Amino acid sequence: MSVRVRFAPSPTGPLHIGGVRTALYNYLFARHHKGKFIIRVEDTDQNRLVEGAEEYMLESLKWCGLEWDEGPGSTGKFGPYKQSERKQLYYPYVQQLIASGHAYYAFDTPDELDAMREKLKAAGSTSLQYDAASRSSMNNSLNLTAEEVKNRIQAGANYVIRVKIPAEEEVRFTDLIRGEVVVSTNQLDDKVLFKSDGMPTYHLANIVDDYLMKITHVIRGEEWLPSAPLHYLLYKFFGWEAARPQFAHLPLILRPDGNGKLSKRDGDRLGFPVFPLNWKDPLSGELSLGFRERGFFPDAFINMLALIGWAPHEGKEMLTLEELINDFSIDRIHKAGARFDFEKAKWFNHEYMKQKSGAELATYVADALKDHGVTASMDAVAGVCETLKARCTFITELREQAINLFIAPTVFEESVVRNKWLYGAGRNFHQLSEDLLGLNDFAMKSVDDFLHGFLKKNNIKAGDILPLLRVMLIGTKNGPAVFEIISLLGQQETVARIHAAIPAFDTLIKSEE
Ligand code: GLU
Repeated sequence: MSVRVRFAPSPTGPLHIGGVRTALYNYLFARHHKGKFIIRVEDTDQNRLVEGAEEYMLESLKWCGLEWDEGPGSTGKFGPYKQSERKQLYYPYVQQLIASGHAYYAFDTPDELDAMREKLKAAGSTSLQYDAASRSSMNNSLNLTAEEVKNRIQAGANYVIRVKIPAEEEVRFTDLIRGEVVVSTNQLDDKVLFKSDGMPTYHLANIVDDYLMKITHVIRGEEWLPSAPLHYLLYKFFGWEAARPQFAHLPLILRPDGNGKLSKRDGDRLGFPVFPLNWKDPLSGELSLGFRERGFFPDAFINMLALIGWAPHEGKEMLTLEELINDFSIDRIHKAGARFDFEKAKWFNHEYMKQKSGAELATYVADALKDHGVTASMDAVAGVCETLKARCTFITELREQAINLFIAPTVFEESVVRNKWLYGAGRNFHQLSEDLLGLNDFAMKSVDDFLHGFLKKNNIKAGDILPLLRVMLIGTKNGPAVFEIISLLGQQETVARIHAAIPAFDTLIKSEE
């Protein structure tokens, strides 16, 4: 039997990193077993749809490099892959359950349901649910004649179809991560499977589609564990036990302090993203920063995410997608929730940055340079990236620093100038540029030696001149070492920038006085 797994998000909001990790584990599992990775959009609850959420989800997975074999827009033989486009398909299945006595019509109004709960509460019942104990006094087809039921439906009454959960039974199944799960059916309620508007609910559509799409393993978030006993029973009620997939419920991604599930609010509060890409809320217009825009590489992001809740075989942390695929197995997914650690995420990105070639990094900064009017060759950009990468964590930093090298600064970091520049201090810098004009070799080591020699010869402290020189050359005190900057800029450009900065610094100091 070949493995078929699905990632089945509901487009009710932006895909969170927890969702990306669920997709990733499904993807790794499928690829490891040479099976299929399927995307199915579960959009039966039309009231909760959020505009743009589906496109966002697909774009996020593309950015992560998680290619799917079947999914929205693909012509796989199990499609369509969007439940709203499969709407017609579910009714016969729910009818099958009614015919076999596993489901029934219920006509209760919201008021009647409230009254039921009130009554149960007053009687001291702890379970306020629609179930084997309470259904006998409700307005449903179990308590009405077939004639009455038919008449009501023909008259256009609102109804739902509920699953009929038997009392006093034990549901027992093995979860691949949690081991044996045992639940009494007394804890389950008669969930709604279908509504009179013709739409199935999540539970029905999810099971029917997993069955029709020949899904072999259901790998999903822990929040779905409470639904698993119902899903298990539905396979039994349909007579599909032989095709029942295996379940694996993933641990939660926790806040950095380990207290509770990681949410958007935690990200906002602690200053890190929880979404893969930028997301603009269509109603409030609020913008949430994504990992991509924060400056993460997709491969670093995926590597980091894979290790939240799963341990590779050999304890090696840096793994390519290929290595993750080879190494992945469900039995090394932890049961307990796993903390998200933004410092660790940064560490991964920095390691990936250092590992990438200048030529690869150049592809990440080329567009930004073009936008700034820089027309440098890719080789030149690659050379700059090669030098910059050791001190950069984020692609955004790399871009900024590359721009600073390719474009002479017009704005200078004032605090440095104010602290270090004395009116007329240009003398040393004129001398420096003169000496630079005499230097023939601009290799890094030679420039480094030259600078040391210059300081010594003129009896100048490094701290008095180098911070200023850096600001003269790139406008800011952040960035590579001064000798690296000079080596990258070359003779002409270095001297030109020094000459342009001297009067600018004088002006800045004067305006201070
Ligand atoms: N539509 C569900 C969700 O949004 C899918 C749960 C499942 O994978 O069965 O997470």
